[in-house]
Amino acid sequence: MDNVFNSALDSLNKAGKLAGIDPNVMDLLSRPKRIIDFSIPLKMDDGSFRLFEAYRVHYNDALGPTRDGTRFVPNLHIDEVKALALFMTIKHAVSDVPAGGGKGGIKVDPSKLSDWELERLTRGFIRGLKPKGPKIDIPGADIGTDYRTQSWMLDEYEQITGEHNPPAINDKPNIMGGTVGSAEATGLGIFYVTQEACKDNNIDLKEEEVVIQGFGQVGATIARYLYDLGAKIIAVSDISGGFYNKKGLDIPEMQKHVEKNQKLEGYKKAESISNEELLELECGLLIPAAVQNVINKDNAGNINAKMIIEAANGPITPDAENILKENGIKVIPDVVANAGGAIVCHYERIQGITDDYWDLEKVEKRLNKQILNAYVNARDTAEEFDTTTRLGAWIVALRKVAQAVKMRGWV
Ligand code: NAD
Repeated sequence: MDNVFNSALDSLNKAGKLAGIDPNVMDLLSRPKRIIDFSIPLKMDDGSFRLFEAYRVHYNDALGPTRDGTRFVPNLHIDEVKALALFMTIKHAVSDVPAGGGKGGIKVDPSKLSDWELERLTRGFIRGLKPKGPKIDIPGADIGTDYRTQSWMLDEYEQITGEHNPPAINDKPNIMGGTVGSAEATGLGIFYVTQEACKDNNIDLKEEEVVIQGFGQVGATIARYLYDLGAKIIAVSDISGGFYNKKGLDIPEMQKHVEKNQKLEGYKKAESISNEELLELECGLLIPAAVQNVINKDNAGNINAKMIIEAANGPITPDAENILKENGIKVIPDVVANAGGAIVCHYERIQGITDDYWDLEKVEKRLNKQILNAYVNARDTAEEFDTTTRLGAWIVALRKVAQAVKMRGWV
């Protein structure tokens, strides 16, 4: 199995070399600043006892407090958390968000817990982590976490500290001090970047067939924006498998099916295909929006898309990216494409600190400007260095992090 932290280091090292980043800064960025590795004891509803592995990684905080998601998945590995925390360092820097990179998680399958067990475990995460507040590290949501978990996290933090402090936790609902537009932010950001990248590459979205892997918060949202624009989405999938219809899928109907059944499984108006087959379908746009490493050296040669938009974090391994490049397939990288959630988390922080809450129009307008600025900088830097948009994005970010690291006198 490819290691996603090695993939992240591959981008780091290639971008650092191309841009001539100071070797001491590169050394500093080759490992996280801090790893918190702890256990959460939990009494289960039936009286039995279980111990859960939990992590929080503060990768680098030269540009601001470490910030971002908390993943609750059964196969969580510390290398995955380190990779995601490094991605966040880059994502914040390339998008001009004054924050460092953080990530955390618990090795758990939340679907196997009762609501009470999940609440106790989530509160246990905060007690075990002892977060120090919005000026130091801010846990948000990721796979397996949502408005409920983020509300419990904030409440637990506030119960411990005895004060209201909404910016201490991100991705919470409006009523807890969150922002409007947060649930759609990543999908909307991907939509903005996709439209711009299509223009740059002479791809007419309304003429092309689109394939999307993953139909969760990100995959279903981007599917819906593209569907509403008039794009033809011929295949989508989730963990239960893929669904294909050459004439185009009815995305609103599929969203309703998932609302009712939690999964796409059982959807009737499409042909069943595997997730592997889905990735190899002939299409204009392929959007992996599920998990890491799904496009690797084993299947990269069979990818039949004009352009890939990385909605998931790390869906393409470095080996695969070389093959895609040789085959002329353009890749719009995760650190730019899916930065919408991170950018809107920044707006959530601003609103929480000032107690001045924005309307949706303001959130969307600022997001559009900020994410397209990141994309254009990455694209132009890639052109300047005659490299991929991914390395263009990493170079933009590394230059900023390196400058802050030096100004602080760390190297
Ligand atoms: P989610 O849990 O809401 O949805 C994940 C989807 O992927 C589900 O449909 C699930 O069934 C499917 N899936 C899981 N494993 C799969 C597999 N092995 N093969 C095929 N499908 C599989 O998660 P999400 O928030 O939509 O996140 C999806 C990806 O986007 C992740 O890589 C996440 O890190 C990344 N991302 C999310 C956000 C955000 O704001 N939610 C922001 C940036 C990046």
